[in-house]
Amino acid sequence: MPLLSRIALPAGMIGPISPDMSDIAPKLQDFMPGGPLAGGNADSRKDLMGLTRSELTAEMEAIGEKRFRADQIFNWIYFRGVTGFDEMTDISKVMRVRLAELYRIGRPEIVTAQVSADGTRKWLLRLADGNEVETVFIPEPGRGTLCISSQVGCTLTCSFCHTGTQAWVRNLTAGEIAGQVMMARDELGEWPTPSDDRQVTNIVLMGMGEPLFNYDNVKAAVDLCKDEKGLNFSRRRITLSTSGIVPEIRRAGAEMQVMLAISLHAARDDLRDILVPINKRWPIKELLAACRDYPSLSNARRITFEYVMLKDINDSDADARELLRVLEGIPSKINLIPFNPWPGSNYGTSDPDRVQRFGEIIRNAGIMATIRRPRGSDIAAACGQLKSESQRVPAWKQRGEEHPGA
Ligand code: SAH
Ligand code: SF4
Repeated sequence: MPLLSRIALPAGMIGPISPDMSDIAPKLQDFMPGGPLAGGNADSRKDLMGLTRSELTAEMEAIGEKRFRADQIFNWIYFRGVTGFDEMTDISKVMRVRLAELYRIGRPEIVTAQVSADGTRKWLLRLADGNEVETVFIPEPGRGTLCISSQVGCTLTCSFCHTGTQAWVRNLTAGEIAGQVMMARDELGEWPTPSDDRQVTNIVLMGMGEPLFNYDNVKAAVDLCKDEKGLNFSRRRITLSTSGIVPEIRRAGAEMQVMLAISLHAARDDLRDILVPINKRWPIKELLAACRDYPSLSNARRITFEYVMLKDINDSDADARELLRVLEGIPSKINLIPFNPWPGSNYGTSDPDRVQRFGEIIRNAGIMATIRRPRGSDIAAACGQLKSESQRVPAWKQRGEEHPGA
């Protein structure tokens, strides 16, 4: 079965488009990732990166160690950021040697590190199996946001998104997701976990991939980020962005309690079906019902609705008013994102005046609207520009076998 059925928009098709695509709409199972593919990895030691506190405790118990050993190691890994057992000075030498024989503390390998003229940094990271993902750091006065990836590629095919043109390869593990935060701390010299004056103050799951299609690993990584004795980020400083996987939004509300961002981009189903095709499975009404039910919403804790501004597609005054209508009653803030073009993209960026006017209509109705300044566009680090060269390797090839049909 093909991994996903791509809905290809004819080249240059950027006008209002509303053909009935239901007959070619991908089935839900086409979107659902199976599981990580095992990659070739020379180091057979178990990687402790990404093990939660309870998993690390279980691991230590399994090798006959006391529970407190897990607390020590947890502190060294996630609070102090060490990558070698030799540095764990409160553990006996003999024990350190034993641990190093059994385990490693992995970090993604940095392939390239780029710094934009505006200070934005982008890292291309190689994972243990050779796949690649990108992580972006956006410094601003008083805060620094780290944008992390949750999958290699994406199963979804939002028509304005560069990542959407790359086939889904695999889910990232919890260690690979949290590892991006740890890599950034390595690079920015932020160990041990700082209590104040941090550079990375906020984490957004807005890089490559749909985080709610990798729920368990994202949850484990979020738990690691939230752990006060580890990476120590407040749940209010972690934002998960989703294209709208309704059942998992409800689950995340109950279990993760992070801030939520919804990639809405259109207030009408006919248009959203084309921009964000998963809308055919969970249309706007169902999506917004889950948003209304998201726990502990208030004026201080609002849902962010992301709205990419596409010239002559979704940026009229009528579109702004429709947006206000559908969001009525939800504590919201709207993030207008001028479309970031990428090679081969078929959309245009709304004129700055149009974006301003759209924002004004929203603000005049008493709803907060911000316009996201494109950051790091000279190094293709802006929203939706992330794409790695990783391709899916079929299972038979990974096993070193011949093509099954050969
Ligand atoms: N898959 C998740 C998170 C990653 S995408 C999601 O869709 O929410 C992060 C944000 O970038 C989303 O709001 C997405 O719609 C937006 N985006 C994607 N491509 C873009 C582009 N070319 N220009 C501007 N924003 C884009
Ligand atoms: Fe995937 Fe998000 Fe891009 Fe859509 S916008 S293709 S869900 S990464």
